[in-house]
Amino acid sequence: MNAGTHRPTIIEVDAQAIRENIHQELARMDRKSDLFAVVKADGYGHGLVQVAKFVSEAGATGFCVAILDEALELRTAGFTQPILILGIVEPKYAQLLAEQKISVAVGSCDWLKKAAPFVHGDEPVRVHLALDTGMGRIGFQDQDELKTALDYLQTHSDQFLFEGIFTHFATADETDDQYFKLQLSRFNAFMDVLPQRPRYVHVANSATSLWHKVCEGNMIRFGIALYGMNPSGKALSTPYKLKPAMAVTSELVFTKLLKKGRSVGYGATYTAQQDEWIGTLPIGYADGYPRCLQGFHVLVDGQSCEIVGRICMDQLMIRLPHDYTVGTKVVLVGKSGEQEIKMEDVAEAAHTISYEIACGFAPRIPRIYLHEEKS
Ligand SMILES: *Cc1c(COP(=O)(O)O)cnc(C)c1O
Repeated sequence: MNAGTHRPTIIEVDAQAIRENIHQELARMDRKSDLFAVVKADGYGHGLVQVAKFVSEAGATGFCVAILDEALELRTAGFTQPILILGIVEPKYAQLLAEQKISVAVGSCDWLKKAAPFVHGDEPVRVHLALDTGMGRIGFQDQDELKTALDYLQTHSDQFLFEGIFTHFATADETDDQYFKLQLSRFNAFMDVLPQRPRYVHVANSATSLWHKVCEGNMIRFGIALYGMNPSGKALSTPYKLKPAMAVTSELVFTKLLKKGRSVGYGATYTAQQDEWIGTLPIGYADGYPRCLQGFHVLVDGQSCEIVGRICMDQLMIRLPHDYTVGTKVVLVGKSGEQEIKMEDVAEAAHTISYEIACGFAPRIPRIYLHEEKS
């Protein structure tokens, strides 16, 4: 897939914003704890290797990714820090994990048994046992299952290194903390059967770290907040101001005076009630700008302009307050004058979460890095 480098639609990623978000979190954290930056899904759309560099400069001591390929990309780029894969990796890749010193989430003893025959070198596979305390995704369901796996690890220490244990909360970003407390109590029950704590004990994603500081553990898996987005959307306010790292901008590539009664876009769903100026932008749903955002707005010259007509695959149309010249900058996410559109605003309008919008921007939009050199 080629990035559209000959088109004026770009994503700007502010390295300094990422560094500052990390600094702010580190300043709040227990000094003995590690911060692993979650850089899965191409760093939530911001660029895997670039983000890994910025967070390392800012004090992150490790990384979390979702799949083996992301971990390998970091190793290939020269990152030697600990990397934890949060998803299930097929047991047949166990030797590759071991060689590359990539840690992996393990949710069953069955996985260990299947992986063991593949591990034949000097290095063991670094294992983080996943505890399912209520997320219902991956992990051990009860203490007996956990004990079986712990026994297996002990008798197979040539193949495996028990490096970590963790859980994941399903509702840490909500005002009601009842389910959170239930999960925490289940986690503590698991910890009671653990004869000895491994190197890493971790329970916190961004939301847990921001709003449930009381929590256990000596490492946090810090994701969405490092990119400057509020994990709760608009539900809870953050203990410090997060700086959004991503801005999405484009330019008017065509403008016209649309006569009263003429329509715009597929389905002719928008009809001008009077003569009005319409601008066209070279970005559409193929770029990850959701089609359902018809009726939402963008910013031109510090003013809000409605998206009119259906969003097309590669273009969309907006209503302008007056004629603007082709080449005028348009902000889809970010600041323009006094106005700002946050990723959370876009997400709310699209009935989803900022995560999905950010990681959904296509490789077709080039990422441009600001403040890459640490000041
Ligand atoms: C993605 C993920 C995270 C990061 O969550 P944020 O809400 O982005 O901080 C942490 N832990 C696990 C297990 C994850 O899958």
